[in-house]
Amino acid sequence: MAKKKIPLHLKIVIGLLAGLAVGLLFSYLGVPKEFTLNYIKPIGTIFVNSLKMIAAPLVLASLIIGIANLGDVSKLSRMGGKTIGIYILTTVISITIGLAVVNLIEPGKFISTQTRMDLLEMYAGKVAAKADQAKELRESGPLQPLVNMVPTNIVQAASDNGSMLKIVFFAVLMGIALLKIPKEKGEGVVKFFDGINEIILKIIDFIMRIAPFGVFALITTMIVELAGDDPSSALEILGALLAYSLTVLLGLGIMIMLVYPMFLKIFTSFNYFDFFRGIRPAQLLAFSTSSSSATLPVTMECVEKKLKVSEEVSSFVLPLGATINMDGTSLYQGVAAVFIAQALGLDLTITQQIMIVLTATLASIGSAGVPGAGMVMLVIVLESVNIPAAGLALIIAPDRILDMCRTVVNVTGDATVSMAVASTEGQDFSEIDTEELVQE
Ligand code: ASP
Repeated sequence: MAKKKIPLHLKIVIGLLAGLAVGLLFSYLGVPKEFTLNYIKPIGTIFVNSLKMIAAPLVLASLIIGIANLGDVSKLSRMGGKTIGIYILTTVISITIGLAVVNLIEPGKFISTQTRMDLLEMYAGKVAAKADQAKELRESGPLQPLVNMVPTNIVQAASDNGSMLKIVFFAVLMGIALLKIPKEKGEGVVKFFDGINEIILKIIDFIMRIAPFGVFALITTMIVELAGDDPSSALEILGALLAYSLTVLLGLGIMIMLVYPMFLKIFTSFNYFDFFRGIRPAQLLAFSTSSSSATLPVTMECVEKKLKVSEEVSSFVLPLGATINMDGTSLYQGVAAVFIAQALGLDLTITQQIMIVLTATLASIGSAGVPGAGMVMLVIVLESVNIPAAGLALIIAPDRILDMCRTVVNVTGDATVSMAVASTEGQDFSEIDTEELVQE
């Protein structure tokens, strides 16, 4: 009898749970931190690095052939306009939900004066470092994000992980140029990138075989690092910040359970549970790596292979989304800003809250798809409404865990929008074989 294959997402879940168990056990038994850092962490690093390694060439190759296959440039500008429009819409909805739940629950009122003082003192150093990072970003001027999009050197851009937009920019130019030159001259190039694209997808398959081990290592390391030198104080802080953490999670839950299903219903009438099954590996990786950029290769594979979104749509919508569309991050920024204001006893007016919607939209667009990026950009949101950046100390402790969760929402949002855009481009999703969704 043929052995039944365990589906990939289940293997990843097993890796995740095993990582959790081993991490807790190590902390409980007092296994020296160095052991985890020297022997387990590298496995996770190798895994994440190999995903990042593949992201730049994948975006380049698939975007070039995606655009070249569009046939004409007007289709690209139409698709571009729609994509950016829907991305901004989901971001604004997301922050609004964040603001609604945080105003309703008022988690800032649950934090005692003593805890507040302790946290402000304990994390003052870390806050200063984040504020410095944010200052550098802000001082570069309002048009700097546009300047950053244009690479001076494409090879260098491909080697720098924060530069996905630079690669998108170059690939779009190359795709458009391919459409404009005589077909016989461009044919070879399209074939070449088509081949590269196939090879890269194969390499992703290889990388995904080590995904369960990579995820195991990432989670074990995270738990051991989180437990730190004094696990009891970490737990105490988490307890004090429980109301805040739950508020963020409630908002993220509403996005996943209500808003995205609604978008899918309106645009595609595709069953949400099937959608979920299709992108599960990407969600699990988003959770384990806290990075939309590192998850991008897998998001693209799930969306193209399982959900059957056409390559011309997914290769454009997803890399763009991984850098500019961060619904989870923007929601978190909204909740965090109001929470800090509540905890510090500052009353925010409606105008200030509208200002938060504006700045958090921009800040989430500006956040890179890497762990912790959303928190650095939060400094800018705070300053826009005159909340002292020192308040960041109040939310640093649970940030790693919330980062994992908001990254899942970021990635799910990108995948949802890719289905929506594909559908408006005339794709019909009613024919998808749902059996295939869980197979490897
Ligand atoms: N970690 C998030 C991402 O990569 C960004 C953030 O919110 O920090 O999508």
